[in-house]
Amino acid sequence: MLVTDINGAQKQRRNGGNMKQSSDLSRMLRQIDRKSYPAYKQLRDEYQFPSYVLSIDHVQGDPFAAPSKVSIHIKGKQAAFPKGLYRLPCQKTALEDTLLREMGKQLRKVSFQAKGSGKSGLMAVSNPGQEVLERSGCQLAKETGDVVVRMEIGFPANGRSINARELEKILFELLPRCVNKSLFYTALDADQLRETAELAEDQDAVRRMLAERRLVAFVANGAVLPRESGVSSRPMKQAVAFQSPPSMEVELTLPNRGVIRGMGIPQGVTLIVGGGYHGKSTLLKALELGIYNHIAGDGREFVITDRTAVKLRAEDGRSVKDVDISLFINNLPNGKDTVRFCTEDASGSTSQAANMMEAMEAASRVFLIDEDTSATNFMIRDELMQRVVHRDVEPITPYIERVRELYETFGISTVLVAGSSGSYFHKADCIVQMNHYVPADITEFAKKEAEEFPVLEEAPASIQPSFERKFGQNRKLAGSDRIKMKTMGMDGISIDRETIDLRYVEQLADPEQLAMLAHLVKYAELHVFDGRRTMAQVVDILEEKLEKLGFGGICGEKNVGTGLAMPRRQEIFACLNRYRRL
Ligand code: ADP
Ligand code: MG
Repeated sequence: MLVTDINGAQKQRRNGGNMKQSSDLSRMLRQIDRKSYPAYKQLRDEYQFPSYVLSIDHVQGDPFAAPSKVSIHIKGKQAAFPKGLYRLPCQKTALEDTLLREMGKQLRKVSFQAKGSGKSGLMAVSNPGQEVLERSGCQLAKETGDVVVRMEIGFPANGRSINARELEKILFELLPRCVNKSLFYTALDADQLRETAELAEDQDAVRRMLAERRLVAFVANGAVLPRESGVSSRPMKQAVAFQSPPSMEVELTLPNRGVIRGMGIPQGVTLIVGGGYHGKSTLLKALELGIYNHIAGDGREFVITDRTAVKLRAEDGRSVKDVDISLFINNLPNGKDTVRFCTEDASGSTSQAANMMEAMEAASRVFLIDEDTSATNFMIRDELMQRVVHRDVEPITPYIERVRELYETFGISTVLVAGSSGSYFHKADCIVQMNHYVPADITEFAKKEAEEFPVLEEAPASIQPSFERKFGQNRKLAGSDRIKMKTMGMDGISIDRETIDLRYVEQLADPEQLAMLAHLVKYAELHVFDGRRTMAQVVDILEEKLEKLGFGGICGEKNVGTGLAMPRRQEIFACLNRYRRL
């Protein structure tokens, strides 16, 4: 309630008469010059500038601490972006993304032009990668067209004494210039904005068409899949452009671009085979990230995957809580329950089984698997091994014996990279060979070759797995409002010193998504886990909140800050599932 009240009051002031003016700010700045650093705290307020409201939301404690948080609020009438540019949610996100990138470009030119100790003079917004994500850094209101940009500024000091003249330079000279060049329609390239909106609409159209065409993914001819390097996700220069095998080529008609052709990966079981180093994993990686839209020039603009697709791998050492893995694992020698399987330290095969069942619980329709990151004993058991070690004493029903059932009974397709095992040929609907980065449809040939090899015995059909697990609130955290959260880059997050390892949740694309996940876990702990709701119901509630109220619905409006990006439903599940306090 408090949050909405503050917010309401702010809104009223923003519309009403008694807001401070920029002249008030410059007067205050002159008064605090050379005082000790904490005097900066009095600046926390909102100030009317000619074309926007500047809100000083949080002031850092000293020049070496994390920079101060400032937001820019522009009225829709003044920002004046035509409604057509953000009619669809995907277009709104694309426009916000563009504004953030434009603002970032301007800020990089002026950052640290104001001088001083520590972070004095820093000016920055978040720095998006190749994916277009909804971010707290820039938000445009659907109804009014109002724009909010959240940024960081290092308030300048010499040692610990305030250098207010340098802050005046930032707030009255550098910042207005950046804002005016990047956050108003008239300042930007109209054609480019239109193209961005059209691209977003087309990308979403492809993703919607997938289901109608019974496809799980589409890879456009001409797409550039490999990246510049392990540390740069920009497109590789002089890469071999993607070209669909003729038999798999589909033609889609998009609302703006018109006809586009490329490889359609059909629903069912698809194998990607080929010699080492021929581009198999690169294709799979592109499919993994095809759940997101990519910016123009990325090369993967039209590599589009079913939005529920999940990359699954082995993840030794993860914790598993009450997951029904009996589809894959039964009769463990230690007598452990596999219908409500629990461990603090899963093996390769049990972790991969848990990852799969959790992905089913998260309503994934497509599993993406690379043999290189899978547990071998989870994926296959060859004939000789079956003869020597009888299936009665083997707890694992390997994936190969379930892959068809997953599709036929549960409607879950598989795209599997298999470099070394031919056993899956019998199971596949479609087999693609990567050869010097060029895919070929070898389904017929491989199937014919496979005829000479025996089909391995299948496990009996399984029963419907149970997704009824429920979790109560953690007693220790109940009622506390000061739960510490931390993000460790892309590796994980920590909630009240409990670490959640996310290194192997490979479809997270940005550290800001991890920061948002930390807020979601905290919110779930405080408000959603109640011992009666299933995991899916918990995530439903989180998603509903996000849908209705955005970032503020979870973090509280005043805590939204600069650095949050929206994670997908499947990653919210993945994060909660790795939380050891469940
Ligand atoms: P595999 O999984 O088949 O062993 P990778 O996908 O790991 O092969 O690719 C091997 C190397 O080839 C990587 O360094 C990758 O960047 C590069 N590569 C992949 N696709 C292309 C392409 N289309 N053009 C040029 N180089 C590529
Ligand atoms: Mg590989």
